[in-house]
Amino acid sequence: MIYIDGSYGEGGGQILRTSLGLSLVTGKAFKMVNIRSGRKKPGLLRQHLTAVNAAKDIGSAVVKGNTIGSLELTFEPQAIIPGNYHFSVGTAGSATLVLQAILPALMFGTAPSTIVVEGGTHNPFAPPFDFLNSCFLPCLEKMGATIVCTLLGYGFFPAGGGKILCKIEPVKKLNPINLIEKGKELSREVVGIVSALPRKIAEEEVKIICSRMGWNLSEGKALTVNSPGPGNIVYGKIEYENTSEVITGFGQRGVPLKQVAEGVIRHLKDYVKSGAPVGEYLTDQLLIPFALAGRGKLRTLTLSKHTTTNIEIIRKFLDVTIECISPDKNIQEIDVQGEPYDVD
Ligand code: ATP
Repeated sequence: MIYIDGSYGEGGGQILRTSLGLSLVTGKAFKMVNIRSGRKKPGLLRQHLTAVNAAKDIGSAVVKGNTIGSLELTFEPQAIIPGNYHFSVGTAGSATLVLQAILPALMFGTAPSTIVVEGGTHNPFAPPFDFLNSCFLPCLEKMGATIVCTLLGYGFFPAGGGKILCKIEPVKKLNPINLIEKGKELSREVVGIVSALPRKIAEEEVKIICSRMGWNLSEGKALTVNSPGPGNIVYGKIEYENTSEVITGFGQRGVPLKQVAEGVIRHLKDYVKSGAPVGEYLTDQLLIPFALAGRGKLRTLTLSKHTTTNIEIIRKFLDVTIECISPDKNIQEIDVQGEPYDVD
């Protein structure tokens, strides 16, 4: 059994999700202690518990410690059972993060799967649906995977109540890709979204971002959507030939919309200026598919603690070399080499 200290590095939920995902794929059992002990409220919260129980169902796993607040977990997967599943976080906890834990296994399933996850779809500190759909999934598609996600309902913190439908066609193995150059710019847009709040908020955010980025106002749009509670996000998206980036700002009570827009502008400008194709969040999320493909190279702006932590957790499950070098002051290069995972 692989022993994992959940307090390592970032000390958050990603250590758990990476372990669940790779345990399911490899069939290797693990024991985790100090779960999320780097966080203010350590242990399994609803989102993490939903991910554990989803992985348990999908992998017919024998599990100990799958209770709210648990600091320890043992997880012994048996066989992956693809099919139709419905998981509900029960709070605004991120639905996309639940998917993060189970996608790797279902990608290599023996049959297609259809998953519905209910929870938050646009949460701070988690991949918003639009990031999943426009940044992460297109990379997996380039690697040969067919995963189609549809947003059935928006869920914002704190009310939640969003819904994502995810259809997965399995593959035998993933094709390696290199993300070293962005390629030609294909499209860009700014989207502001509100639920149960004045649309003016989203319109203003979009206007500020378009004007400060030097983009045409026609490249922006403001949407009012239905959701069980109030919410506001605004994102800037740039699509290139080889990659895309979605940078999201989350409106919060008491935070001026100008400040939300400023955050998006700062990160968009840094991203555009750097020339690196892969943004900070996409980097930590691509490490698992790259490692399973047995090869892959990417250029990013910075090595976040999520990235360095994920590298160590991946190494516990897969025989893989992950090298990080900095060819330039503001550029990091990650080179993944190992044995490709092959269903046969
Ligand atoms: P906790 O840390 O409270 O346990 P958690 O389970 O939400 O929280 P983390 O370990 O912090 O998990 O991992 C968060 C994940 O969400 C990372 O993979 C990170 O790349 C991703 N992420 C965070 N913010 C964004 C964002 N704005 N856009 C895209 N992805 C994001």
